[in-house]
Amino acid sequence: MSASNHASAFVLPATDADGRKNLVGLSREELEAEMLSVGLEKFRARQLWHWIYHRGSTDFAEMTTLAKPVREKLADAYIVARPTVVKDLKSADGTRKWLLRMPDGQEVESVHIPEEDRGTLCVSSQVGCTLTCRFCHTGTQRLVRNLDSAEIVAQVMLARDMLGEWPAPPDGRMLSNIVMMGMGEPLFNYDNVAKALKIVMDGDGISISKRRITLSTSGVVPMMERCGQELNVNLAVSLHAVTDELRDIIMPINRKYPLRDLMEACRNYPGLSNARRITFEYVMLKGINDTPADARALVKLLEGVPAKINLIPFNEWPGAPYERSTARAIQVFGDIVNNAGYASPVRTPRGEDIMAACGQLKSASLRMTAAERAAIAAVIAEKDAALAS
Ligand code: SAH
Ligand code: SF4
Repeated sequence: MSASNHASAFVLPATDADGRKNLVGLSREELEAEMLSVGLEKFRARQLWHWIYHRGSTDFAEMTTLAKPVREKLADAYIVARPTVVKDLKSADGTRKWLLRMPDGQEVESVHIPEEDRGTLCVSSQVGCTLTCRFCHTGTQRLVRNLDSAEIVAQVMLARDMLGEWPAPPDGRMLSNIVMMGMGEPLFNYDNVAKALKIVMDGDGISISKRRITLSTSGVVPMMERCGQELNVNLAVSLHAVTDELRDIIMPINRKYPLRDLMEACRNYPGLSNARRITFEYVMLKGINDTPADARALVKLLEGVPAKINLIPFNEWPGAPYERSTARAIQVFGDIVNNAGYASPVRTPRGEDIMAACGQLKSASLRMTAAERAAIAAVIAEKDAALAS
């Protein structure tokens, strides 16, 4: 399997029923080319960028810095589209999950996690995921396709709509940070993710800085350096096991890119320093990877890598093959890692009551029958075979 062979299994219609093209997700250069193609000046792209990405406008009629005939011309040829919100769920702890339907009917989820004076949006990069990490609900989803850049940026724009944050307030916004930790493996959809993040980072628009963006990967080794070079966002690596024996089982991508290669790619991640560390995510699975010996092996494995460790209590989902480690085991594990000099916060599970916590995202129904469990086993077997080939 190559990092690119997941690219658009099928491509979204880039136009609506009236043949009008969606402008969201185009780079600045592409937007300029569009303007020229309909006989408008190149600088219109700059004006549009401001309306679309700074003001959040979806209606050309509102774009009052453009003359009326220009607005009409734009409205004839283009749209500024949003996905449809199919569900808007709010957890008791304030976390919100939006189930979004794309024009082809596929659905993805994004999750907003508010804190006191800031907030993080967890963004999806694919419908489902081609990988089958055993603890992850997304990995049991059969249907997989890449999201295009428009669909990735649109998740951020939609969240801004829902939070009422247009034009972006300079301070104290509730959408201040982004984590690419929703559905999918972002480095298997690198081109679209990169294009979308460049739009999100653009200072004249959504303007979320690279320091506030974290991309999480299961360890797609060949794409890590490029991601650091081109985007320079914070990197999180889903580690979850300290030996190849265990990681091969719980994260089948390890059979392709084993720990030695992964750690080497981490050491070489561009821009790494003590001020800019890699976050290693470690899901705590009862009796599987949570012993003091595992904690000591983890410390050893990370030697020489500027690292933080994020301990994630396993978020259970119906039919999951694992259980969450006990609070005591997590504490003992965390103390060992801490005493070795690594920050190791335990991530508080958020939004569990609406199935919005890490690894619970899957846009299908939740209650499982025996037949569904068998179907999931079949999906995992099929995807694992594809990974091995
Ligand atoms: N595909 C990417 C990003 C999405 S998953 C990746 O794997 O890194 C975001 C994080 O949630 C990853 O660290 C993932 O391993 C973790 N995760 C998956 N399932 C989980 C679960 N059930 N409980 C807790 N964390 C989980
Ligand atoms: Fe995919 Fe990440 Fe889930 Fe693994 S943990 S199946 S890579 S989304």
